[in-house]
Amino acid sequence: MAFDARLPQDDSAPLSTLIIGTGFAGLGMAIRLKQEGRTDFLVLERADSVGGTWRDNSYPGCACDVQSHLYSFSFEPNPEWSRMFAPQPEIKAYLERCADKYGIAPHLRFGTDVVQARYDEDAQLWQVQTRDGRVFKARALVAGLGGLSTPAYPQLKGLEKFKGKAFHSAEWDHGYELQGKRIAVIGTGASAIQFVPQLQKRAGQVDLYQRTPPWIMPKPDRRISALERALFKRFPLAQQAIREAIYWSLEGRVLGFVLNPKVMKLPEQIARWHIRRQIKDPALRAKVTPDFAFGCKRVLISDDYYPALAQANVDVITDGIREVKAKSIVTSDGVERPVDCLIYGTGFKAQDPLPRGAIFGRGGVDLLDAWKDGPEAYLGTSIHGFPNLFMLVGPNTGLGHSSMVYMIESQIAYVLDALKTMTAKGLSEVEVKAEVQARFNAGMQKQLGGAIWASGCKSWYVNAQGKNTTLWPGFTFRFRRATRHFKLADYDAQKVATTA
Ligand code: NAP
Repeated sequence: MAFDARLPQDDSAPLSTLIIGTGFAGLGMAIRLKQEGRTDFLVLERADSVGGTWRDNSYPGCACDVQSHLYSFSFEPNPEWSRMFAPQPEIKAYLERCADKYGIAPHLRFGTDVVQARYDEDAQLWQVQTRDGRVFKARALVAGLGGLSTPAYPQLKGLEKFKGKAFHSAEWDHGYELQGKRIAVIGTGASAIQFVPQLQKRAGQVDLYQRTPPWIMPKPDRRISALERALFKRFPLAQQAIREAIYWSLEGRVLGFVLNPKVMKLPEQIARWHIRRQIKDPALRAKVTPDFAFGCKRVLISDDYYPALAQANVDVITDGIREVKAKSIVTSDGVERPVDCLIYGTGFKAQDPLPRGAIFGRGGVDLLDAWKDGPEAYLGTSIHGFPNLFMLVGPNTGLGHSSMVYMIESQIAYVLDALKTMTAKGLSEVEVKAEVQARFNAGMQKQLGGAIWASGCKSWYVNAQGKNTTLWPGFTFRFRRATRHFKLADYDAQKVATTA
């Protein structure tokens, strides 16, 4: 079956490409398809606006921890960033502007919650079902689901008995009045360190339940002046030069993360100095000082977190939670603390981002069965047994050191080249060869074995079997090189059947 290059009138007609998600990944893919004149695609989005993680995470203090000049599409620089590390509303607005500017609206289907995608081998089409019973069909399925989109909740004794207010940082209830309340926060990760300083200003009391203190570096943030913004507008090359400089300075971190973890001793000293400088109380200093190798878990940046912890209305509690009661939390030392509102800063299901029964490939195999030893793909994109499925932000494409948008754009270029190759060669199906995927992953795991993330801490980067299924091991330009061209020789391919 050949496809019309235009967007069909009827959503149930088979399309060339279906994209799921409108974060940087899904939206970026849609824009690039459109730029290439490939308009026979739809973008399915469960929410009612674009933005992915930058729409969902709206907690007070939410901002990017990668400089915005780099954390943005290469083809769409934004001279208007107000700070070096833009706050969430600006990033969300940027993505909305991108969707608008590149004419993605006719392709967007909001309120379209995908519950299942199944590969129909006979038709060589992906059949995608939504919660409200609609079915979409496409030759290629591009999953831009995000690596960190399913909130993770702790398993705590008695949690179901809790009668106060409770929500996850990714589902912040802005209607809840925090003023004067007794707030319990569980978790001290990237999200919590951003919202705790904001809570501290409003709440009566903040009890911060910390299981593992993170390493935190000073945040080199500042306002971008009106003059600078005018300069970036007038001379885009100036902003481009800053983007390049940021890229290469962040890339330098790979030396410590992967090539020689001993190098991490230097930034560790800076992080220790940061604690000493911002916290005077020796007991609090001791509580927030990590005891694992710097870099093993995600290194965070903040200038307002430690000062907030040092305030009189914040307690850092390191005794484990024994039990949650109707209106309180009891810790292992027997102390019971009253709670009005419980906020989960407990992160996301990075290791099992998809539920069972969501994606079925060749032979009706559930993706989770193909991934019984943990998520695995070729170049984080293609999975043997799942023809014509392309994942964005798939296994081992995450970063601990630089901008995910760079990785996403690399993957988008690869998928675009795959789709172009399929069209040019009249292919109905491409499926990565099992041995290509196995060789790629063996090489990657070997590199990851010597990296700082394998130095013994417990993090969401590594699964229960000790396999790192989330991070790309090394320089991002190597990923870009590897994804520059779709290599058909790495795939089994079938030609479109021609009828006489
Ligand atoms: P996270 O980094 O995974 O942190 C979760 C926190 O919850 C950790 O402190 C963890 O402790 C704690 N926790 C989890 N389960 C617990 C339990 N059962 N009992 C007690 N504590 C528990 O999650 P996050 O802060 O939401 O961030 C997730 C990721 O999102 C980040 O790593 C980052 O990639 C991304 N993010 C990015 C930005 C940005 O600015 N770009 C901002 C926020 C988030 P342990 O350490 O002991 O497991």
